[in-house]
Amino acid sequence: MADSVFDVIIVGGGGTGLMAAWSAARLGRSVVILEKCEQIGGTTALSVGTICATSTRLQKAAGIEDSPAEHYEDMEKFPGFIPERDNSELRKILVENIPETIGILVDLGVTFMGPLPEPPHRKPRLHAIIPHSRGYIRHLERACRRLGVTILTGHHAEELILEGGRVRGIKARTSDSESVEKRFLAKRGVILASGDFSSASLDYKQRYMSGPLLQIGGINPASTGDGQRLGEAVGGSVINGDLAWGPEIRFLPPSRPSIISKLPTSRWFANLLLFAMRTLPQPVLRPFLLGFVTTFLAPSHRLFELGAILVNAKGERFCDELNRPQDYIGLQPDQKAFIVFDDTVAEQFKSWPNYISTAPGVGYAFLPDYARSRPDIYARAGTIADLAQKLRVPVDVLEKTIADYNEKLAGNPAGARKPLVKGPFHAFGPAKSWIVFSEGGLRIDCEFRVLGQHGLPIPGLYAAGSAGQGGVLLEGHGHHLGWAFTSGRLAGRNAALASPVQ
Ligand SMILES: Cc1cc2nc3c(=O)[nH]c(=O)nc-3n(C[C@H](O)[C@H](O)[C@H](O)COP(=O)(O)OP(=O)(O)OC[C@H]3O[C@@H](n4cnc5c(N)ncnc54)[C@H](O)[C@@H]3O)c2cc1C
Repeated sequence: MADSVFDVIIVGGGGTGLMAAWSAARLGRSVVILEKCEQIGGTTALSVGTICATSTRLQKAAGIEDSPAEHYEDMEKFPGFIPERDNSELRKILVENIPETIGILVDLGVTFMGPLPEPPHRKPRLHAIIPHSRGYIRHLERACRRLGVTILTGHHAEELILEGGRVRGIKARTSDSESVEKRFLAKRGVILASGDFSSASLDYKQRYMSGPLLQIGGINPASTGDGQRLGEAVGGSVINGDLAWGPEIRFLPPSRPSIISKLPTSRWFANLLLFAMRTLPQPVLRPFLLGFVTTFLAPSHRLFELGAILVNAKGERFCDELNRPQDYIGLQPDQKAFIVFDDTVAEQFKSWPNYISTAPGVGYAFLPDYARSRPDIYARAGTIADLAQKLRVPVDVLEKTIADYNEKLAGNPAGARKPLVKGPFHAFGPAKSWIVFSEGGLRIDCEFRVLGQHGLPIPGLYAAGSAGQGGVLLEGHGHHLGWAFTSGRLAGRNAALASPVQ
């Protein structure tokens, strides 16, 4: 089969890859995206969808005076920020270029609500996509196709083609029954935009990670670190591979997404939604907005502080819920658990300040929200035995688990956690522990070129998004998508402007 030749080849059709493709194609270059899954979208399409940015039209409309310089400073204030591990040059590039990225997304059809506050950011900066994160993919895909980008799904990039020390292209294998190997040559550059390695094989993860992270998988099973491996095979290296967002307890997403979640992501619909959010009363609006939620929501730790316990599929309690319970769920049968509590605890989670989880659209979701919108992960019953049946855990074991727990607490009547005695009894789950995403990406320079031996760029090879995170620390919400779209945009532009190989 003859080689296919493009100016720019992009590995991965998530947010980074699509933005990189749009950016290169807009400069008149021929571009192909190779996506190993049957659908584009990646982790980007599974995300909550917030982006943290300053100096945007939304900030200005809200009368907020803000700047990239202040944003740069505030990123250091988040817990988890380790100054000596951060790539401050890439952080500067991020904050200075996010405003333009948001502007482009809006011009392409994306609608945001906000900006929402998120301390320690000194100003409200969080832009939340309406109605959900698949809107990014839909609008970017449409823009790419308009510019003639070739998008090949079911094409697994397997090996970079090197010629005289320069990356010239890539070999990919089709995922259909024929499993054909195809060669793609790039005149200007190959961009690795293949996501993180939270779901990589154990032997790969063991090179960087340790402890509970090794027991559990990533939320996106396609995040197998392929770009990191491809880059390493030609001399690149991974930085911050031991850092990850997780383990973190999250509910499974709805098994059957609601009809509401299938409503269009177009601008007119998003604007209608914004109007409804401003005018309709909360009781009418909340169930509707929660119907859009298709992502993995994280239960608040406060549930455990106020007395909820964790039980596994056998009905047994397996850890101290106040001491990193997320590290233990991965060791349980089917790696899942239920959060069980009585009506005294339940009463406290019906309104502010005790929320069950944050949730896109409504900000915070309370117990009545879950009862209405997520019957698939919420159960309520008059007795422990009935609750056990609803959860399909052994009745006698759950009864004993709760009796033992209550007996233990009897010795400490002054503590915040009280015995679980008041019916009805409630449960959330199954919940699992996940690596939401890993932070280890290829080392890159400020032009998004992958760095090889002696810290020199590998000619013809770029990386962006999670695959090319380059050591920048993205603590807080909304920085990962900000990085994905911004680094993708700049990497696409740089590859497009590189001198062509004859
Ligand atoms: C539940 C959840 C919620 C989140 N919410 C937010 C949020 O609100 N705000 C925020 O900033 N961040 C959020 N994030 C993080 C954010 O979504 C990711 O950091 C970001 O989407 C990564 O984008 P990417 O393009 O680098 O990777 P992806 O979107 O994962 O795209 C990579 C693509 O490459 C493909 N691929 C992989 N290997 C190959 C190969 N060998 N050949 C071809 N294709 C390949 C994959 O299939 C995938 O489609 C969230 C993440 C999760 C899991």
